[in-house]
Amino acid sequence: MRIGAHVDPSDPLAEAAARDAEAVQFFLADPQGWKAPKPREDADRLRDAGVDLYVHAPYVINVATLNNRIRIPSRKLLLGHATAAAAVGAKGLIVHGGHVNAGDDLAAGFDNWRKTFAYAADSGGFPLPVLIENTAGGENACARHLDALARLWDALADYEVGFCLDTCHAYAGGEELLGLVDRVKAITGRIDLIHANNSKGAFNSGQDRHDNLTGGTIDPELVVAVIRAAGAPVIVETPGGVAGQAADIAFLREQLGKAA
Ligand SMILES: [Zn+2]
Repeated sequence: MRIGAHVDPSDPLAEAAARDAEAVQFFLADPQGWKAPKPREDADRLRDAGVDLYVHAPYVINVATLNNRIRIPSRKLLLGHATAAAAVGAKGLIVHGGHVNAGDDLAAGFDNWRKTFAYAADSGGFPLPVLIENTAGGENACARHLDALARLWDALADYEVGFCLDTCHAYAGGEELLGLVDRVKAITGRIDLIHANNSKGAFNSGQDRHDNLTGGTIDPELVVAVIRAAGAPVIVETPGGVAGQAADIAFLREQLGKAA
């Protein structure tokens, strides 16, 4: 099982080495901005390094919203990031499930997701797996609660869609971690990546506040059990820089090395 961390994008390979990580996730542009990613000069080095790469799409992207001024640029930006992520040999592009505004029909949000994949298909399809990530907050989210996730997957039935399960988001979003992998896979058929994070927020608090694995409100053994059940690569998106994340990675390796 490949284990790594979300790192600063300046030199992801050096960040991987500093954490003894086999995988890294990073942004290709400002996560709060709408600028298209620039080609990376280190693309060849990244592709050939033997470290598994994942790219996280900007947080501003919301392809589900009924607001045209957000949805249309979101679609375009997502495809731009997919192209740039493929250029560095990334294994997947992670994007949040998004939401509709209060009072808007969630059904239209799911259909907007379908249109996003249709839009990409018009230019040959996404050039790498797009992994939709579950989110922690909001009452109108496409991928917070599993009933919504099931409707999202129905809407995307004609397309190849991956899933990234974040343990902090699931717990803070109000989904019990015990048995969660089976319940998710019954909907998605797959889990491509685990974001292994503890949560500063309480169960069902709706708060997206990551904590180190042995801190926070989640029993760390439950996070380990989710990883074991999923059998997917793992990225920690935890605080504390190199030391904090290296400790989280070491903790997971130690726990996963033990008999279940
Ligand atoms: Zn995450």
